[in-house]
Amino acid sequence: MNKYFLFFLVLLFTFLGCTNNQKNDHFLNEDAHSYANFNDVRITHMNLSLTVDFQKNTLDGKVDVSVDNYTNAKQLILDSKDLTIHKVLLDNGVETSFTLGDISEIFGQPLTINIKPSTKVVSIYYTTSPDAEALQWLTPEQTLGKEHPFLFSQSQAILARSWVPCQDGPGVKFTYEATIKTDSNLIALMSAENGTSKNNDGVYTFKMDQPISSYLLALTVGDLAFASTGRNSGVYAEPAMLEKSVWELNAMQSMIDSAEQLYGPYAWERYDVVILPPSFPFGGMENPRLTFATPTIIAGDRSLVALIAHELAHSWSGNLVTNETWNDFWLNEGFTVYFEQRIMEKIFGKPYEEMLTKLGMGELEATIDDLIKEGNSDDTHLYLNLDGRNPDDGLTDVAYEKGRFFLQKVESVVGRQRFDSFLKNYFKANKFKPMNTERFIRNLNNHLLTPEEEQAININAWVYGPGLPDNALIPYSEELDRVESAIAQYNNNQIMANKIDISGYTTHHWLYFLRGLKNLDSIKMRDLDDNFKFTQTGNSEIACDWFKHCIDNQYDVAFPALSDFLIRVGRRKFLTPLYTRLAKTPQNKAWGKEVYQTARKGYHSVSYHSIDEVLK
Ligand SMILES: [Zn+2]
Repeated sequence: MNKYFLFFLVLLFTFLGCTNNQKNDHFLNEDAHSYANFNDVRITHMNLSLTVDFQKNTLDGKVDVSVDNYTNAKQLILDSKDLTIHKVLLDNGVETSFTLGDISEIFGQPLTINIKPSTKVVSIYYTTSPDAEALQWLTPEQTLGKEHPFLFSQSQAILARSWVPCQDGPGVKFTYEATIKTDSNLIALMSAENGTSKNNDGVYTFKMDQPISSYLLALTVGDLAFASTGRNSGVYAEPAMLEKSVWELNAMQSMIDSAEQLYGPYAWERYDVVILPPSFPFGGMENPRLTFATPTIIAGDRSLVALIAHELAHSWSGNLVTNETWNDFWLNEGFTVYFEQRIMEKIFGKPYEEMLTKLGMGELEATIDDLIKEGNSDDTHLYLNLDGRNPDDGLTDVAYEKGRFFLQKVESVVGRQRFDSFLKNYFKANKFKPMNTERFIRNLNNHLLTPEEEQAININAWVYGPGLPDNALIPYSEELDRVESAIAQYNNNQIMANKIDISGYTTHHWLYFLRGLKNLDSIKMRDLDDNFKFTQTGNSEIACDWFKHCIDNQYDVAFPALSDFLIRVGRRKFLTPLYTRLAKTPQNKAWGKEVYQTARKGYHSVSYHSIDEVLK
């Protein structure tokens, strides 16, 4: 054979090998919650230019999306929801045609744009709807300062498409930059590099050089001030809230340092938190570089800061290595709860972590019971099938707590040292990439577990089976054991509240206590309230658990405080169980509906969609 021909063959095979690898590199599993044709042509970068209009409650402007066209596709399909698309231009300002497909209540509409195989940038001019599901527009009265309006976004799971036309699946990652124009007395912040003070002209520019998924696109605009909490961390809050917030979150910098020791370098440079008004629907949202947080964690005693450890931990699990589809959501949340506990243990000690873990198990068992009772046993698997459903349905304690207990099981079988070094390598090897359940298990089997260990863990039962496997660890907490005996005595009518030794009780003791109470009646409700002043508590977690008993036992004394709570706080984790309990009797349901009439306008769509269902 001619040596030149041989050389040609070698070149040809190398080339074929490369294209094959490239295909494998970019190929993503099908995403049932996105219309986007990301395996043909994919967004790699976005440049947003938007004007914030507090009169109309809209964002108006354009997004330039840069694309990689793998298959010479002639159409770019994006996700959109309630967007008005004015025009679409290709590279050199040439206008192109587009169509918006049928509307689905959950998924919105596919935006199909005609492109050329050579197209590099597509510019979409659009306006959001005043009802855009991701965006919550607050009137000045709904803020603490009462003077300025406020806006925040919540894009997870599939709401980014209601404010930016995009490929709205977690597997697609892109970098972005943005220019946001707003009122000159407000500051705009994004999940990107942020300034720390207001501009005179109200124009803010942003850059995010690390690739992120669309659900991590975030924007907030309001009267916010900044204070540093350490080397690369700080807090933004309404001015009246700033000092309290900084005091509450004083452990933030040590959390970052501990997390880095555990899982390797923090990839996002700064870690800041913005404390939002109380209508924020979640505890926190791990928007890269800038966690969005509920003010309900500012309890005045630093007792609820585990939430910050959680959001920070997402800087590795979720933001760095991302669930490829929402069916793999447990990879995101299970890891994060596991990390959260590790960070808390490192900073606050083992007994503190043990309390959190035991409380977590209680929540998981209750969730599993409920799901099985409702006939949704499949939703107790770690790997979910959410096809055709709102991915929000998968946002239960199963992903969070069962995920965590699975990883804890792995840790207990292989030992902490080996597990930690596996995790460090796992994050290093997979950073800025999507991960799915199947590949993660392969990773575990190839890089960590012996066949015997694999058998001892029984991965299949955890990931693809219902409920909590028999080999789950049983959490132990000496601190909570003390509470357990008080609960037993109280439940058996052996003692009244004034005889309970509450010395050293923290928020976590109280939560465990409240969750263990049974057979209450009006006398005991009064007894508990007189002694422990639960109705007046400023701690939202304690308030929520107490109000559950108030509803179940028709303790009317607390209903005015309950009504205030439901109107003030928009965090879905509190609202859903309270309204669900109210809906159990016609009288309470009518009362709940009345409160809801006032409260609903203060809730984000994520919350009111859930509550609409509960009260219908
Ligand atoms: Zn989380």
